[in-house]
This record gives sequence, C-alpha cells and structure tokens, in this order.
Amino acid sequence: MIRILAYVVLLLSAAGIFLCVSLFLLGVTSIYLLPEGKPFLFFGVFVVWLPTVLLMNRLTRDFKQKDLWKAALRGCPSWMRTTLWVVTGSVMALFILSAVSRTGPGGFPQLFTIFPVTFYGASFCVMYSFVHVDRFDASHRCLNGHAIPPLAKFCEECGAPAAPDPTI
Ligand SMILES: [Zn+2]
Repeated sequence: MIRILAYVVLLLSAAGIFLCVSLFLLGVTSIYLLPEGKPFLFFGVFVVWLPTVLLMNRLTRDFKQKDLWKAALRGCPSWMRTTLWVVTGSVMALFILSAVSRTGPGGFPQLFTIFPVTFYGASFCVMYSFVHVDRFDASHRCLNGHAIPPLAKFCEECGAPAAPDPTI
C-alpha cells in the first residue's frame, strides 16, 4: 500500500520536474510565457511534499538528524544524488543572483517556473530511494561480506571498510 503511494508520488514529481523544465525553457526562449498569477506549479509542490515528508520520516527514523539527507537518499545511485545537489545549487544561485541584480520590473519571471523543480527533484529522489532502499540495506556489506548498518563506513565485526555500493 505504502509502496503504491511512493510510486504515485514518484510519477507526480517526475511530471512536476518535466513541467517546470519545459515551462522554464519555453519562457527563456520566449516561445511561451506562463501568464503571471498561475501558481499551479507551486500547488503541485504541496501535493507531493506531504507524502514525501511522511515517507522520508520512515526512511530516516533510525538515523541521526545530521545524517537526515544521507539516510533519506541512501537508496539512490550516487549520480542521482549528485544531480539533485547540482540542480538545487544552480537554482538557488540563480535565485540569489536575480534577487541581488533585480533585472528589470518583476525581476526574472522564468525563475518561478524553475524554482519548484528543487522540491519536485528532492521528492523524486526520496521516493526513488524509498522503493529501492530494502535492496540497498540488504546489500550493504563490508569487504569480507558481513552485513553492516546502512550508513556505516566500517564493519563492526572485522573492521574492514564497507564494500562499494553495487547499485552505482
Ligand atoms: Zn566485516
């Protein structure tokens, strides 16, 4: 049941990412400008964010606060985590830049079509992690093959380092 929810949110956030990126590209190239006062992209964020927070709590309840994102995204391949941080960083940088420079009236309206992508992206990755986490946790072993806790870097039994993640 909860996996179905995760898959639904995964699809919705994928659709959200696609919509944001399309509208952003159309806006930047002036092919189609989203009329102002159409905040449906932000509305969608609330729809996916609530179940994301709930499922993220399940993923991270056995972990410390400082490992929150590491734990939440542990089921994702590392390229996915890297992409998420790069995209989030770029959008934040754009946002700060436009706030500082204040180019023209209304600033840079395309930003509002790309900004929600950070939420949809995070949601997508957490959901992907959620549906793959069992396999990740089961396969996390040291170089000598002992099962070790999900985020542990060394084996408690023999001290050997964790084996490289096979999903990468
Ligand atoms: Zn070991």
